[in-house]
Amino acid sequence: MSNNDEKPRDASPDEDVLADSSGLIAREVPAGVDRRSFLIRSAVGGAAAVMTGCTVSDADRTAKATATAAAAPPAAPSTPPLAADLNVVKKGQGPVLTTVDEFYKVGPGPSSSHTIGPMRITYDFYQRAAKLPADTLAKATKLQVNLFGSLSATGKGHGTERAALAGLIGKEPATVDPLFLDSLRDKPDQVFPVKLGSKSIDVSLKDVIYDATKGDFKHPNTMTVKLLGGNDVLLEQEYYSVGGGFIEWKGYEPPKKNPPKYPFRLMKELRGHADTNKTTIAKIMMANETSISGKSEAEVNAFLDKIANAMIATVKSGLSMSEDDVLPGPIKLHSKAATVYKRAMDDKFQSDRGIGVLSAFALAASEENGRGHLVMTAPTGGSAGVMPALVYALSEVRKVPREKIREGLLAAAGVGYLCKHHATLSAAEGGCQAEIGVASSMAAALTATAYDAPSQVVENAAESALEHHLGMTCDPVAGYVQVPCIERCAFGAVKAWTAYAIASNEIASRHRVDFDATVAALAETAKDMNSKYKETSEAGLAQSVTLC
Ligand code: SF4
Repeated sequence: MSNNDEKPRDASPDEDVLADSSGLIAREVPAGVDRRSFLIRSAVGGAAAVMTGCTVSDADRTAKATATAAAAPPAAPSTPPLAADLNVVKKGQGPVLTTVDEFYKVGPGPSSSHTIGPMRITYDFYQRAAKLPADTLAKATKLQVNLFGSLSATGKGHGTERAALAGLIGKEPATVDPLFLDSLRDKPDQVFPVKLGSKSIDVSLKDVIYDATKGDFKHPNTMTVKLLGGNDVLLEQEYYSVGGGFIEWKGYEPPKKNPPKYPFRLMKELRGHADTNKTTIAKIMMANETSISGKSEAEVNAFLDKIANAMIATVKSGLSMSEDDVLPGPIKLHSKAATVYKRAMDDKFQSDRGIGVLSAFALAASEENGRGHLVMTAPTGGSAGVMPALVYALSEVRKVPREKIREGLLAAAGVGYLCKHHATLSAAEGGCQAEIGVASSMAAALTATAYDAPSQVVENAAESALEHHLGMTCDPVAGYVQVPCIERCAFGAVKAWTAYAIASNEIASRHRVDFDATVAALAETAKDMNSKYKETSEAGLAQSVTLC
């Protein structure tokens, strides 16, 4: 129907013009005009006419809205194109093959992608360089690391240069003494000899260069490492720190692995295996761990115990810090885990005590991360307060048996693997939803599994926790993993508990959103997110918070 046939209508002075807006909006959108833009302009035009007491026909309004909508400049793309082989862009092919010892990594905070990854990268390069022929090594004069993209934009706040130097001189993330990294910060002029064949090459923090922050990089966290002989490049490798401490390099091919006993690409398939075999997600995960890695169940359990113990230790260590402790960096952020814990314990309401102490556990582990002390990637350093808070609460407060904690860690790993497989664990690729969101989802699965929830409840809890982090951006103030990161871990932990509480109390079969759909939304949101909000400290809180 054409609007041209309708007569102009006078606005009565007694009429509530905002009660029904349908009359303000022209009903047909002309061909070739953006619908949303057209409808907004049409409505605004109609409303303006009513408010000013003017009358305007639908035909006039349509003409005006069409003209202004057509004249409106197209929205500029908010994100740069992403390379096709980024985790967040490529679809996970084949079954999930990640194993727990690849996934849960111990290393120095504050960021798995900006400390653990770069340290593993330079350590890897050192190993490659050491294998060069003796006559090549005899020409070596210099080692050089160049940091690009997010590694360069926020690396100073993360201590990336110290981590990169440590790897170059042969230190590994799991065993490096955090005090050594602190000493590099306090005495930045230290020089270390690196033995390569018959040569000894001196390296220092000056050999780690903060290079271009913007450019056509294959991954937002790109770095190169070179062995030079004068001006000649004897060996060069381009690397990518792809999140959660995982590293890749130019020409990277995933290692060949044994097939899993129960192959799955999706949560639907993982749960299908559990339900068909009348067992749990955790048991399916254990069967896959042993079949892929060739390890025994006892070996896998020993590793899971190491991770659980390290998580408990990091919470204890954080809670024991003085209430006057100030975290490193320009924010001068006071530690508050111990204060929150003590005051929460005095709360007269039990439920408030629970939320308060769970938050304190997360703050404690996350503050340890902020200090650059050893943390566990679950899945990343920035989110290193979330899983430890739940492991500590379940183990130390609720006294859940260790066997259930192990099962919880396995189910949580399954959740993290799927997020990595189909989306990303890297804030530089997907913002904070990929770190705290995934951590919270894992922690919800851990909690549900530890309480013997059926597989659908485990999935629902994980889905719910992830769903309510979708869209969360990464904007660390001054490039330090402290604000908003430390409190965000507390919220991630509490949301995990909330997700478990809802999932275990609702009618599970009526849960409307499945985990796989939410992971797909995580990937899509990551792709569409403005690059300013991907660990660059160029927007959000990083811009609005003033440091004095
Ligand atoms: S804002 Fe989130 S993703 Fe970004 S550094 Fe902090 S914890 Fe990590």
